[in-house]
Amino acid sequence: MLKIFEDNCVGCGVCVSNCPFDALKMENDIAVVDSEKCTMCGICVKECKFDAMEIEKENKVEKQEISGYEGVWVLAEQRNNKLMDVAFELCSEGRKLADELDTTLSAVVLASNIKEEAKELFAYKADHVYIVEDEELKDYRTETYTSVICDLINEFKPEIVLLGATHNGRDLGPRISARLDTGLTADCTKLAIDKEREILLQTRPAFGGNLMATIICPDHRPQMSTVRPGVMEKAEPDYSRSGEIEEIEVDISDKNIKSHITDSGKIINLKSDLSDIDIYTTIKEIIKEAKGSVNLEEAEIIVSGGRGVGSPENFKLIEELASVLGGEVGASRAVVDEGWIDKAHQVGQTGKTVKPRVYFACGISGAIQHKAGMENSNLIIAINTDEDAPIFEICDYGLVGDLKKTVPMLSKAFKDLE
Ligand SMILES: Cc1cc2nc3c(=O)[nH]c(=O)nc-3n(C[C@H](O)[C@H](O)[C@H](O)COP(=O)(O)OP(=O)(O)OC[C@H]3O[C@@H](n4cnc5c(N)ncnc54)[C@H](O)[C@@H]3O)c2cc1C
Repeated sequence: MLKIFEDNCVGCGVCVSNCPFDALKMENDIAVVDSEKCTMCGICVKECKFDAMEIEKENKVEKQEISGYEGVWVLAEQRNNKLMDVAFELCSEGRKLADELDTTLSAVVLASNIKEEAKELFAYKADHVYIVEDEELKDYRTETYTSVICDLINEFKPEIVLLGATHNGRDLGPRISARLDTGLTADCTKLAIDKEREILLQTRPAFGGNLMATIICPDHRPQMSTVRPGVMEKAEPDYSRSGEIEEIEVDISDKNIKSHITDSGKIINLKSDLSDIDIYTTIKEIIKEAKGSVNLEEAEIIVSGGRGVGSPENFKLIEELASVLGGEVGASRAVVDEGWIDKAHQVGQTGKTVKPRVYFACGISGAIQHKAGMENSNLIIAINTDEDAPIFEICDYGLVGDLKKTVPMLSKAFKDLE
């Protein structure tokens, strides 16, 4: 908080005139702060020539005992007992982190029937695979998943935990980190290890994508990050690698979860009591989204349209090219905001992160927030009337021209190749 030393204040008013937040005023020639408005930016302290103010730092964060934590974990997400691609991407990245730290990489899967499928995680460089199978874990439920995973983390004490920034991962990550009283960095685009301090460096866009912030969690464990699907490179699977799946048994009855490891004769009883949770979710039915599903993250070819498309009707041109190439339709936020296309198609910082083999950017200027979601595509082809459009700085091939003419020409040319 901002502290004012009345004895030093001479009532000059310099702090009032310099405060960008209108948080200071003079009362009886003494500066008075409005704590609702004060952001503690420190400008007044710097400007005051009379040492009449100071920012008092409250150090509320208590340090945790972190010495017993070791190993990198990936919470490998499944849908209908099928592992999602993001699980393999995170294992590939987790391997690099584990090697840097000279430690092990473990993947953890909660599901109802995953034993065979989970073996694939060894090919993506996991050293250990823990599975927790129960009918109750077939579909994601916040409380159940949080409880089981927190128990496992408390038992095994991994130093790093990675999750996919999927709908479920975005729900689960903050729950776990809050319950374990640790930090979580969402939507990381880069992960690295500070070798000297042996801590995780978690980089993500900040301030609307205008700068990259590297965030650390030095005093709490585990260090937790979510990463969007498609951001990390999936390594080539190595099927010569194998390992023993370690099964963790759980007994989930209504509001009580008991988990214990029975494999290899080691029995650990983990008891999670959910009785203090008021809202306990029961899944009655899973209804698939009625509109056509958009699978941008796994698409090999994406044809995206931006404001340059001109109208919702013209999106047919984009759809046609995507259809001829067997690809998906993407979009910039500008056209989603206009209501020309559903948000599920949006690529970018607040949309999806994609990495197709070929990305067509049609009538898209190439704003930093759009680039954040597609610049890792293998081949980028841009079509724009403005030869100075920023998209041309990152594309492999650029067509300067009207998309209403060039896109139908491309559709025809590719059709003729069939
Ligand atoms: C916090 C935040 C998050 C954001 N998140 C996203 C995000 O996730 N995804 C995203 O896309 N944006 C996002 N934005 C918005 C972003 O800043 C841009 O406003 C947006 O990407 C612009 O979309 P656009 O390129 O379609 O439109 P414009 O910038 O208007 O560009 C249209 C382009 O079309 C070209 N053009 C016009 N007519 C034709 C024609 N006939 N043929 C060919 N080219 C033509 C023009 O030369 C121009 O380059 C975000 C912004 C903020 C502040």
